[in-house]
Amino acid sequence: RGGTPARENPFSRPDSLTKIFAIASGKGGVGKSTVTANLAVAMAARGHKVGVIDADVYGHSIPAIFGVADTRPTRVEDMIMPVPAHGVKVISVGQLKQKRDQVVAWRGPMLDRALVQMLGDVFWGDLDILLLDLPPGTGDMAISVGQHLTNSEVVVVTTPQEAAAEVAERAGTIASMLHQRVTGVIENMSWLPCPHCGPSHQIDVFGTGGGARVAETLTQRFGYPVPLLGSIPLDVTLRSGGDVGMPVVVSDPTSASSVVLTEMASAL
Ligand code: ADP
Repeated sequence: RGGTPARENPFSRPDSLTKIFAIASGKGGVGKSTVTANLAVAMAARGHKVGVIDADVYGHSIPAIFGVADTRPTRVEDMIMPVPAHGVKVISVGQLKQKRDQVVAWRGPMLDRALVQMLGDVFWGDLDILLLDLPPGTGDMAISVGQHLTNSEVVVVTTPQEAAAEVAERAGTIASMLHQRVTGVIENMSWLPCPHCGPSHQIDVFGTGGGARVAETLTQRFGYPVPLLGSIPLDVTLRSGGDVGMPVVVSDPTSASSVVLTEMASAL
């Protein structure tokens, strides 16, 4: 767009009523995008107007999880229309590329520009809640989100594993340096319900305690309560739902993972 300044970011207006949560993790593969999508769909099912920005430049898996990987956003005049999916408005950093399989080596200023575009050039309408799926780690996109969305809060996703928890604490600390409140911690892949003995026998595939540890550490560090919001078990339907674009909170709402995701969505 040749240096044209992007439109004003509507979420930074002082009268904006949109609650904004950036979903962060220390490393990839902990289920951050899966959790983001399911929280969004559960919130929309409660009657909220929900938008999701997929800002994970390395993964941008959100469109596939929502089942809209092949849908390009349309343009109306110079606005980009977010893609509707399961009652949620979705836009992905991957959709800003010219071609879907184009490889882009995103650098700091490009990431910042992409974020500004997804905030200001997308026709969001009035949203009650905006969720951002951040790239894993403490990189430039996390910093841009903190700078452009000063009223955003951060939810940290981790697995129970020691190494995952350690890097998740760092993601939480960056949020606090950017003056974002850390709402809480979600532990994912917490246990595997034993396929032979039944759900009361839990196999701790990734160990235990990572989520609680991150919550405690951040609580001590920040001096305000950072709770463990919930723990999600390993669940085949959660994974397969993501693969076929049908979030588990829709396809199997009574599963253990759906129940905890739905509870967290109403608590946020
Ligand atoms: P991230 O966004 O942290 O990189 P994803 O959400 O892409 O992680 O999840 C990584 C993989 O793990 C995906 O294949 C996803 O379907 C799977 N997954 C995520 N959470 C669970 C879970 N609780 N049980 C089983 N599979 C899961």
